[in-house]
Amino acid sequence: MVAVEGTVHRSERANRGVELIPTAVEVIVRAEVPLPLGIVDKVGAELDTRLNHRVLDLRKPAVRAVFELRSSLLAGFRDAFIRRGFLEVETPKLLRQGAEGGATLFAVDYFDGRAYLAQSPQLYKQMLIGAGLERVFEIAPAFRAEPSDTVRHITEFASLDGEMGFIDSVEDVRNALEGIVTDAFITTKKDLAGRGNALAERIPEPKTPFPRIPFAKCVEWLGRPGSEEDLGTEDEKAIGEHVDREFGVPLYFITDYPTAIKAGTFYAQRQDTNPRLTYYFDLDFRGLEIASGGAREHRLDRLKANIESAGFDPEKFSGYLEAFRFGMPPHGGWGLGVDRVVQVLAGLPNIREARLFPRDRYRLDP
Ligand code: ATP
Ligand code: MG
Repeated sequence: MVAVEGTVHRSERANRGVELIPTAVEVIVRAEVPLPLGIVDKVGAELDTRLNHRVLDLRKPAVRAVFELRSSLLAGFRDAFIRRGFLEVETPKLLRQGAEGGATLFAVDYFDGRAYLAQSPQLYKQMLIGAGLERVFEIAPAFRAEPSDTVRHITEFASLDGEMGFIDSVEDVRNALEGIVTDAFITTKKDLAGRGNALAERIPEPKTPFPRIPFAKCVEWLGRPGSEEDLGTEDEKAIGEHVDREFGVPLYFITDYPTAIKAGTFYAQRQDTNPRLTYYFDLDFRGLEIASGGAREHRLDRLKANIESAGFDPEKFSGYLEAFRFGMPPHGGWGLGVDRVVQVLAGLPNIREARLFPRDRYRLDP
């Protein structure tokens, strides 16, 4: 690391059009040699090597550019929420009970007992609707013990959650989400262009409304009409390609998820006219799920019945259920994976590159 004093001259030859002619050079600290990773490496080191030496890796302008995008995107999201009257909240990450129980909970020692890391702020943001906060959002880590080694799953991710009360229907939720995403993309694009960040060009300026494609239509496209099986990675990709051909847009909703798929999601509201379907949707971006959301069940008796049929004991959810005993309006919301959005926007092959210090099954360092 050096400090250089000198005068700046215009220069045709220099990349940035200026050259520094030094008058004094001071060595502040010496780096160890050889470096484990080239700062200007044309070949591109393996991702594992890069992540093992992340501090050096982050010094590369192209890597830094991703985190400028991320910072700008988060600012854009916050701004879009606040302009729509959402209140920023923080909910506990140490829980006695997971939102949906299940295999992806991390247990931690908690004094003489056991606690769990939050997989999502789901139950708390609903409780805040019951508390009269009406529109809330949170951007915070969520933890999932995902055993599968994929390029779109990590064990600690940034979840961007919105929840809104007094909705007329799930359409209100989709309208808010598509508006917030669109606004955030547009401000991020502008901000990055202003800083000369080349990633600005990759950011689409979406047009609302995004297409809304019923789940049933998607499985028809996939050649398995009537299927109530969840969509896999390859299915999502194929749907993304179909949407690109038919609508030429990057962002779209997959709506009306079958109840069979959402059975464990006890807070998902079943449709009035057809209980085989829920008012649940995904938002996908170029063939990758980036958000899931919907209208929630706000009627206590039905919610309890859903909890039981999902195989849970309503007693264990008494704190949550209390919020429904004294007046809960119709409400809905979503959880969106910030890291996945950064991954697609920056064109990163692996979600790990969208986080400064990613965590997965094998990586807790650095
Ligand atoms: P997937 O089916 O892709 O595993 P999911 O449906 O289990 O995701 P949700 O519970 O719907 O995930 O969570 C909401 C959003 O949070 C997802 O749409 C995704 O963007 C993000 N997300 C969920 N799990 C992860 C993870 N392990 N790593 C990164 N992002 C995640
Ligand atoms: Mg989902």
